[in-house]
Amino acid sequence: MTVGRILAAKGRDVATINPQCSVAEAAQILARKRIGAIVIVDGEGAVAGIFSERDIVRLLNAKGAAALQDEVANWMTRTVVTTSQSASVHSLMEQMTAGRFRHFPVVENGVLVGIVSIGDVVKQRLAEMEQEQQAMRDYIATA
Ligand code: AMP
Repeated sequence: MTVGRILAAKGRDVATINPQCSVAEAAQILARKRIGAIVIVDGEGAVAGIFSERDIVRLLNAKGAAALQDEVANWMTRTVVTTSQSASVHSLMEQMTAGRFRHFPVVENGVLVGIVSIGDVVKQRLAEMEQEQQAMRDYIATA
């Protein structure tokens, strides 16, 4: 199963903001869209960082509510691990576990084409496991 198959099912919308937006604006978008991370893009639309609910916890702990007015650029993760549509879901699970993060921007030829979260991966794996179980039941019933 590939990342492209997940995107084909869930869609390719990605919430993005520019680095000059405030942390408060980023938090509003996360809350309104009910998502856990937002991708920061530069003037050319290239991925410049990622900012997740974990970063909000970290900045509130470090600076308190005053940090909400900071630019998101000051708190985002700049070294973003991205994936491609041809990557396997299995490799995403390994990298999410090893890197302790839950969101993967999908990039093709420098262009952001989607995002896959740990929730999307778990949903996909559950569907696959149900299919495998059903195939096994069918096999036993006809054997
Ligand atoms: P998350 O588990 O996605 O909420 O993110 C946990 C931490 O990892 C936060 O500091 C994020 O900014 C960072 N992070 C999330 N996704 C990525 C990614 N694809 N590459 C690098 N860092 C990430």
